[in-house]
Amino acid sequence: MDKFDIRGIGMTSQRTRERLIERLYEEGLSNARVLEAIRRTPRHLFIDEALSHRAYEDTALPIGHNQTISQPYIVARMTELLLKSGPIDKVLEIGTGSGYQTAILAQVAERVFSVERIQPLQERAKARLAELNLRNIVFRFGDGWEGWNALAPYDAIIVTAAASEVPQALKDQLAEGGRMILPVGQGEQQELLLVVREGDTFHQHVLESVKFVPLLTGTLS
Ligand code: SAH
Repeated sequence: MDKFDIRGIGMTSQRTRERLIERLYEEGLSNARVLEAIRRTPRHLFIDEALSHRAYEDTALPIGHNQTISQPYIVARMTELLLKSGPIDKVLEIGTGSGYQTAILAQVAERVFSVERIQPLQERAKARLAELNLRNIVFRFGDGWEGWNALAPYDAIIVTAAASEVPQALKDQLAEGGRMILPVGQGEQQELLLVVREGDTFHQHVLESVKFVPLLTGTLS
């Protein structure tokens, strides 16, 4: 992980970040690579300055355009679940948002492919991730319901907005033995699902209740 030169680690934020790691550990998150990635990533740089004092609370926060940066617990949990079957070469992320989840993925996978439908959010995320010197990420402006077929298949797929059903295109783009983690449902009725591909069979496991913004259709520039 030393190939990444993560800057912006101020002393005060470093202490609050350590407390966040302790809390995640107490909540049962134990993957050392994931916790280390969270320790190294300056979440305060992914939100507006007015809210940056809350960056290391374990909570979602607004990032504009009616979207939110995900709660650190859920970022850690989803990443941990993706890594359960071993190292990840290619991961597809739907919903770049602030780019925080993208930054964590970039530190635990070889290559990250990230799709976002709101152009200004994507531009900001790109700039932050370049500033942090995370170079193994490729971005696509588009509708995540379609995935990113040209670069498929993916060992892992993560969706960070709630879909009404598992998008067929994403199932098609999952590699043999690949794992997809996504929230499915509406409003307060959402569950985190794990989908594992075995040939043309997709094994589905319901994990826990979650709350995400909806996976929308089309793009916004
Ligand atoms: N992981 C991000 C979460 C952002 S919220 C973070 O922690 O910052 C969900 C994101 O999904 C938003 O940026 C939203 O614009 C995006 N999104 C919603 N529907 C989408 C779609 N169909 N295709 C691509 N991105 C989508």
